[in-house]
Amino acid sequence: MIFDFEVIKAFYGELAEKIAGIRRATGHPLTLSEKILYSHLFNQKPEGSFKRGIDYVEFAPDRVAMQDATAQMALLQFMMAGKDQTSVPTSVHCDHLIMAKEGATADMKTAVYTNKEVYDFLSSVCNKYDIGFWKPGAGIIHQIILENYAFPGGMMIGTDSHTPNAGGLGMVAIGVGGADAVDVMTGMAWELKLPKLIGIKLTGKLNGWASPKDIILKVAGLLTVSGGTGYVVEYFGEGAESLSCTGKATICNMGAEIGATCSIFGYDDAMSRYLTATGRKEVADLAGANREHLISDREVFSDPAKYFDQFIEISLSELEPYINGPFTPDLATPISQMKEIAKKNNWPVDVEVGLIGSCTNSSYEDISRAASVVKNAIDLKLTARSEFKITPGSEQIRFIAERDGYLKLFETIGGEVFANACGPCIGQWERKGAEMKLVNTVIHSFNRNFAKRADGNPNTFAFVASPEVVTAIAIAGKLTFNPLTDTLLNADGKEVRLAEPAGSELPPNGFGSIDNGYQKPDTNGKKSEIAISPESDRLQSLEPFKEWDGKDFKGLPLLIKAKGKCTTDHISMAGFWLKYRGHLENISNNYMIGAVNSFNDKTNLILNLITGQYDTVPAVARAYKTSGIGSVVAGEENFGEGSSREHAAMEPRYLNVKAVIVKSFARIHETNLKKQGILTLTFADKEDYNKIREDDKIDIIELNLLAPGRQVTVVLNHSDGEKETLMAKHSYNAAQIDWFRAGSALNLIRKAKIK
Ligand code: SF4
Repeated sequence: MIFDFEVIKAFYGELAEKIAGIRRATGHPLTLSEKILYSHLFNQKPEGSFKRGIDYVEFAPDRVAMQDATAQMALLQFMMAGKDQTSVPTSVHCDHLIMAKEGATADMKTAVYTNKEVYDFLSSVCNKYDIGFWKPGAGIIHQIILENYAFPGGMMIGTDSHTPNAGGLGMVAIGVGGADAVDVMTGMAWELKLPKLIGIKLTGKLNGWASPKDIILKVAGLLTVSGGTGYVVEYFGEGAESLSCTGKATICNMGAEIGATCSIFGYDDAMSRYLTATGRKEVADLAGANREHLISDREVFSDPAKYFDQFIEISLSELEPYINGPFTPDLATPISQMKEIAKKNNWPVDVEVGLIGSCTNSSYEDISRAASVVKNAIDLKLTARSEFKITPGSEQIRFIAERDGYLKLFETIGGEVFANACGPCIGQWERKGAEMKLVNTVIHSFNRNFAKRADGNPNTFAFVASPEVVTAIAIAGKLTFNPLTDTLLNADGKEVRLAEPAGSELPPNGFGSIDNGYQKPDTNGKKSEIAISPESDRLQSLEPFKEWDGKDFKGLPLLIKAKGKCTTDHISMAGFWLKYRGHLENISNNYMIGAVNSFNDKTNLILNLITGQYDTVPAVARAYKTSGIGSVVAGEENFGEGSSREHAAMEPRYLNVKAVIVKSFARIHETNLKKQGILTLTFADKEDYNKIREDDKIDIIELNLLAPGRQVTVVLNHSDGEKETLMAKHSYNAAQIDWFRAGSALNLIRKAKIK
């Protein structure tokens, strides 16, 4: 079955005309990134007026994907919009909550039991609103998207950082927060600062031990973890065309590690082969007929430096394998230099565990190349000196890896297969002994290796490499082993050298037909109940926020005047709190607990004006809410920078905060607050921040006159009887003022539907 084929057909049906229009409007040759971005504008025209890296542009993506952790609050919000189904095809994937401990079968049993309430909720919402649901064990979101949904030239958003994986199939695919997903699912425009463009020309051809992973490991070393921020990275050249589709996906996936908005490859034969092999020949045919629109224009290829904001060239023929780390994915070391650099840095070189798989490197090509190394090692009478773990990206991959004998090979050298899920890649690895926090080294083919990421142990030195290099190093047991030059001592005491890996881009016997773990929305689902237990402390239905009552805000106590940096992490902490991300009441107990109170320089200690006592921020906010009193939050520059976490905007609204006044906002957080119905203001004179006193009662008046560009009057009623009036600016447009009046953007959508 081809998912959403009618949508894809309609997309290709209009593509030529759209691209012609874009070319006329912009008046210059187009990169692939521009073609895709401009062909997905939301009611706007690419008049050549958009400035990359400066202008915010509204887009209409083709689809949404969500993983189980981030989907919870996004779907709870979506349910409040009163719609019968999502505006674009959407899917939910149960992959992040499965703990790797004793192997796939036992771990799946535990996960299904432990996370039952979350899975039941997600499954029932998906049923009701025609959302594709991928059960626990089906696989990791990005692998499933690549195998089933991605199509060249399309645009999608996903509530996970590695959504750009779909760039391997020529899609602009961007990782976002839940609030963005709600926008697209409810049919609103989705806003993004128009990305700048990095062009990377790949020349030559990979050989020997080098793999697509090594391209992105090298790029990470060149650009660092922030070098791609605000950019789309577009790969092209004969080297790009020589890579498999799944190899391209690995590169795009790990573009998140350089901060890129997304990465992308132009349509080519490798993508056609992959689409065909995964049962989507019709999509391949449509893409093939539109090939010229799914690559950059000829002029771009001839003079890339003119059309990209940055341009890099990499020769694949000269590329050697890389090992990146520890503790950061951009610390890139060519394998030939590892001995020297590990010694210089005193890195522990005895490798305890090698792990392959994850959404980044789970393709048939990856598994078959790693298996060829294992087969060769067995033939050479070698065994693995490190533990060896395998995390298949999907049931589809696990099935063919088993069918074609690769899993058996891995098990022969002591390999253990974990569930088709994120597991060790996201810290869901109950690794024996990790709690002792001993210094040790692991190497994996995942994408991130920050401290504590895999096993929670801050002293685990985690390195990233290709699956074949990870496998070779797990066999050698040493980080410094270079399979290109070094030999190993086998069971007969003979020096032997591993052969170069060999694998297949696609399974020679096809992908086969299996139960892939997909739950089709039930046709009777519309009538079904959403499964949320009233006793649950992880999930809670949302109540629509109240409409604005048309009155000015009078006598609101100051809740907190935050000093200095106040990111979304300060506003709504992650870590422990993430388990409550589907329960607004419970997660609101972390509201502003990381923010510094400017009156005492302490975190989470503020004055309660009702009792005159000091208490935590959530406790004081709840005391005001219970007494029917709203409150005001003040802050300094770039308030709410960081992730686009929607909880940071929902929590204050839930706790009855009426307005946030700051020196400046991080734009995404400001928009999120507006969407939740909170009044967002900035001091017209930034010095006025200093006028706010700890025990002020604040009036915000003439709100009935709120209009674009019109300043708002704020009165500070000091406890000594003195009053000070100050002016505040805002950035509301007319539509956003309607959000404020309706109580939230979702209220407005629901009202429109009821009418
Ligand atoms: S496997 Fe790792 S990188 Fe991929 S989606 Fe899961 S946690 Fe994210």
